[in-house]
Amino acid sequence: MVGQQLDIAIAGCGMAGLASALLLHRQGHRVTLYERFDQPRPLGSGLMVQPTGLAVLDGLGLAGRVLRDGAPVSRLLGRNAAGRVVLDARYGDLSQPGAFGIGIHRASLFSALYDAVLAQGIAVRTSCEVAGSKLTEGGRRIVFADGGTSPVHDLVVDTLGLHTTLAPPTGKWLDYGALWTTLDWPEESAFDATLLEQRYRAARQMVGVLPVGRGRLALFWSLRADALDGWKAAGLAAWKDEVRRLWPECAVLLDQIRDPQELTFARYAHRTLPRPVDDRLIHIGDSWHSASPQLGQGANMALLDAWALSVALGGEGTLQARLERAIALRRGHVKLYQWLTALFTPLYQSDAALPALLRDRLLAPLSRVGPGGAVQALLVGGLAGAPLRRLGLEMPDYVRLAEGTQPSVTVAVPA
Ligand SMILES: Cc1cc2nc3c(=O)[nH]c(=O)nc-3n(C[C@H](O)[C@H](O)[C@H](O)COP(=O)(O)OP(=O)(O)OC[C@H]3O[C@@H](n4cnc5c(N)ncnc54)[C@H](O)[C@@H]3O)c2cc1C
Repeated sequence: MVGQQLDIAIAGCGMAGLASALLLHRQGHRVTLYERFDQPRPLGSGLMVQPTGLAVLDGLGLAGRVLRDGAPVSRLLGRNAAGRVVLDARYGDLSQPGAFGIGIHRASLFSALYDAVLAQGIAVRTSCEVAGSKLTEGGRRIVFADGGTSPVHDLVVDTLGLHTTLAPPTGKWLDYGALWTTLDWPEESAFDATLLEQRYRAARQMVGVLPVGRGRLALFWSLRADALDGWKAAGLAAWKDEVRRLWPECAVLLDQIRDPQELTFARYAHRTLPRPVDDRLIHIGDSWHSASPQLGQGANMALLDAWALSVALGGEGTLQARLERAIALRRGHVKLYQWLTALFTPLYQSDAALPALLRDRLLAPLSRVGPGGAVQALLVGGLAGAPLRRLGLEMPDYVRLAEGTQPSVTVAVPA
């Protein structure tokens, strides 16, 4: 069975949902998006678009816009409290000429995808709080929190994210999360607009600055979830003192923050659904797998999952076989990065002294010798495990993108 037009419900208007909607609509399927908010909107501050995610966005014809709205990032630079460089990952160490990451505000990435969805006339049903789904004759229905149900769809794609109600709860919350806020880029400062910079005190404290384009930056501060109440009780001034002690140049940023409410606390979970495919149901993006954002991969993984789904649905076999194929196309890369993120996160967020010591004394020097730099760039770029090739994707043409040109041909999505 090839090329059969399906009636597809996509639950969730996040990165995975919007990208899937565009790709599956382009393949000729009838797509309906369901979202809990009355107006779809992103939550959170900045994120990094890696070469993997940019390859998908390029295939959607959105890479140019994302680059214009974001900020090209050439390096991830981390120093410990003594000022020593303990992380220096350069996109220039990738074999692709002119490669960079893109720091972007979530709202900008979301708008690029959402505007394209609206321009394609894809149906978006808002104020639909998804509570579950049920298999019925000839398809699957979504069940809403108010007791209502959707029409019968051939396939339900779960892109509800970390708290999906379409799969049983699984995984483990991490002890550390982070406070995030978006600020104006100061007119005069010591910050370099092409770097994602971080400062660490052992692995107990971390402050970071990520340029997100349009004259803005994201500031983040690592915090244990069980220390959040203590942080609130101590007050804003005490926290600002602590940040300044670790990275004095942040003073000019902290002056912009007047109320603790301007900072949002985000918590992360490491979780992977053991069975991401059920009868006429597939889970992709954070619904399938999530990890701490230390390696900055989640949104990129969600975009790759969406691409894999469109590749597999464009192939041969029964619907269930094609869904299994979508997961098979991504499983190796997902597993690898779940493992890598679990391995690397304690080096930056942990109460123990040993991980920070390993980071500073062993990994940082190793990354500076032989192929160390290139390996580090591959890991950060999301490219370990060669995820693009098996999806028929190519590395973005950074030289063309930097020149501001759009793709001359639209990358074909399997029909
Ligand atoms: C602080 C922080 C920093 C991060 N930094 C990075 C980074 O630098 N790079 C990176 O690649 N990733 C990063 N991530 C991870 C990234 O944000 C996620 O992996 C990505 O958003 C997952 O996309 P998704 O579409 O699967 O889910 P989401 O983006 O979570 O989208 C889920 C959608 O479903 C909707 N929804 C949820 N529940 C329901 C319901 N019951 N009914 C109806 N609708 C519902 C939501 O409103 C939302 O629109 C970061 C995450 C956090 C928290």
